[in-house]
Amino acid sequence: MKTTVETALGAVATADLGPTLMHEHVVTRSPGVQENWPHLWDREAIVALAERKMADLYARGIRAIVDLTTVDLGRDIDLIAAVARRSRVHIIVATGVWWMPQRYFSAHGVDAVADLFVRDINQGIGATGIKAAIIKCATDTAGVTPVIENVLRASARAQKATGVPISTHTWAAGRSGEAQQAIFTQEGVDLGRVIIGHSGDSEDLGYLRGLMERGSTIGMDRFGLENFLPTAKRVEVLARLCAEGYAGKMVLSHDANCWTDMLSEDDKRRTRPLWHYNHISDDILPALCKAGVSEAQIQQMLVDNPRAIFEARQPATD
Ligand SMILES: [Zn+2]
Repeated sequence: MKTTVETALGAVATADLGPTLMHEHVVTRSPGVQENWPHLWDREAIVALAERKMADLYARGIRAIVDLTTVDLGRDIDLIAAVARRSRVHIIVATGVWWMPQRYFSAHGVDAVADLFVRDINQGIGATGIKAAIIKCATDTAGVTPVIENVLRASARAQKATGVPISTHTWAAGRSGEAQQAIFTQEGVDLGRVIIGHSGDSEDLGYLRGLMERGSTIGMDRFGLENFLPTAKRVEVLARLCAEGYAGKMVLSHDANCWTDMLSEDDKRRTRPLWHYNHISDDILPALCKAGVSEAQIQQMLVDNPRAIFEARQPATD
């Protein structure tokens, strides 16, 4: 079994990960835009903002985040590394593709795309030597289009080749985690190595139980995004599933970011005031306690489950 996990600053013992937010972003942006209109982009200010937000997280006891930013969300590994060097919070980085893939990913076959993901995991991203420790893929309202199917199958094959987990984006209202699980199963992936993300957007308990009964962990990972599901509902669903014995199959996060080209910091505060890195620590954990979730269950979701997900590796050679 593997007892270290790769981060932006190298391998870390999984025992040292501590409380981990499993689906966040440092920066998301539209690839190519800032390169062509650099006046939109103040890199130093963004790094300084990220440094402050990571310090706030650390002060609240969070010790690691998983940055699920892909190429089509503008993954910038040098920027992530710069933030990591100024932070005491570990940053685990991802390979993969989100639901707005560039045409490259439909013009090339499943195995060619899988090879890119495997390269990020085994050799490192670009020339940095920083290794991805998780594979991101996504299905949104359009469902499994040909290019999305390509990416899902490539993710599955890269998972089997490397043993690192898969973490997905879904459109929970369309139960899209089910189609993802079906494709991963066809490809021979152990669903225990898969996190079905954005499941916390759903209050369909039958759907959520099914995802977990088939072996996957579900991401209760958009706390603060009230437009998808209000906080009170998110807490109620999570508490109910904990009471039913599912705390070993859930992880927590916000899907928030330090900076995005979609919304200014002012717009974020105005339109999504609860959507920030500190919402779980400040508001959700106390609300869960009130709703009957135990300290041990919180420890499971924040510490033990993330650790186990990064420790389990399939390839016998590892
Ligand atoms: Zn995300």
